[in-house]
Amino acid sequence: MADKKSACPDCQGQMQPIKLLDATHPGLHLTGARHVETTYAAVDAPPSLFTGTIPKAGTVKARICQECGRIILHGSRS
Ligand SMILES: [Zn+2]
Repeated sequence: MADKKSACPDCQGQMQPIKLLDATHPGLHLTGARHVETTYAAVDAPPSLFTGTIPKAGTVKARICQECGRIILHGSRS
């Protein structure tokens, strides 16, 4: 039986860590050319007065089921 932490809740398949790719960050010459790490923030987090960016509360980690393809997301405070 698979480890509870690494088993898919749908089919009990093995879960494999994956990287979520988001290419919204501008590169040197092309818009959206660079990949960035997917992060999250509190729903009411205000943007910075200086940069307009919303401070992140953590990083989104993902795992995919090797059998059915289900992706599970977890927030990681880092
Ligand atoms: Zn599965």
